[in-house]
Amino acid sequence: MNPIAQPVPRSLLDLSYAGLRQQLVADGLRPSHAHALWRAVHLGDDRGLVRPDAFLPPLRRWVAEHFGEGRAFQIERPELAADTASADGLTRKFLLRLDDGETIETVLMGYAGRSTACLSTQVGCAMGCVFCATGQMGYRRHLRAGEIVAQVRHVQRRLRERGDHGLRNLVLMGMGEPLHNYDAVMTALGIITDRSGLNLGPGHITISTVGVVPGILRLADEPQPYNLAVSLHGATEAERSALVPASRRWSLAELMEACRTFCAKTGRRIFFEWTLIDGVNDSAAQAGRVATLLAGIPSHVNLIPLNPTDGFVGATAASGAAEEFQRVLRGHGIPSTIRQRRGIDVAAGCGQLRATASVP
Ligand code: SAH
Ligand code: SF4
Repeated sequence: MNPIAQPVPRSLLDLSYAGLRQQLVADGLRPSHAHALWRAVHLGDDRGLVRPDAFLPPLRRWVAEHFGEGRAFQIERPELAADTASADGLTRKFLLRLDDGETIETVLMGYAGRSTACLSTQVGCAMGCVFCATGQMGYRRHLRAGEIVAQVRHVQRRLRERGDHGLRNLVLMGMGEPLHNYDAVMTALGIITDRSGLNLGPGHITISTVGVVPGILRLADEPQPYNLAVSLHGATEAERSALVPASRRWSLAELMEACRTFCAKTGRRIFFEWTLIDGVNDSAAQAGRVATLLAGIPSHVNLIPLNPTDGFVGATAASGAAEEFQRVLRGHGIPSTIRQRRGIDVAAGCGQLRATASVP
């Protein structure tokens, strides 16, 4: 027995390549065994079956010790509890059941060859944004890195089934606050972007945060060029904290300071998300305040018409309000996009994700 042996993680999908090598070496194996196991886990069987009989004896014994004897075992694979497609066929929502019975949602959007997957990072969310279905259900738990990686594997499998190899973008905009679960998210992204694994480009990955300031500052120092999206929704302390309770913990002033630091350190622009709510934050005056707030920060604003949720009475901004908001921003030289309301009919739009087995 090696006295410094670490506990084996719950799933091989929880380990980065470096983590796997460290684990095996701590257990007395050679680093080269990590390569064989990594390939079997990430590049092997499409069904996620690992066949230990293909390994050299020491690795075969290690695998048998931790995952049981047998010709093959299944890599972590959440059960598909529901699969719903939107009427236009461009959005699919997967309800995935985790091994403790909790469920999360993963959304696949877009056209063949250039799909985007929207991943969850927590079961529920502690941040409590008033208009968000995930916030309305409260915090249940963090996802493990393997549970985040498993969502990508699930989506890729579904794409391959229809002859499409084109998962291009990942957005961490599903259930949960990614920067509240920082370590697991970074481990998962390290695995997903590993060139000898799933090999997705870090520049095609966007992490969306409600404004967890310490997380933004840590992200600014990461070597990988992940994109940052910050959910703003209000341009004064009072207006923002009425919608986003987390704003009382990390003030708007602190948040903007962290955004400036992020841009200065990384040289990258930030995406700002603004959910447009009728009569609450959709006026031209508010657009002007956004422009003032973002002055000097390289930014792109995504305007998201509010999607309905059971727990919030606010209404989607009236038609024309988003365009007017955009016009004001443009006048200040700030580019913006009005997000298409995609997947609303299957409650797969932003902020509608909520673990439920009773999806339509
Ligand atoms: N927790 C992270 C990422 C998940 S939420 C964050 O808040 O950024 C992803 C995006 O959906 C956020 O910009 C969020 O503000 C937005 N959103 C939440 N509820 C919404 C709703 N009902 N309608 C439209 N957008 C919503
Ligand atoms: Fe959490 Fe994001 Fe929803 Fe706010 S909008 S409650 S941070 S998931």
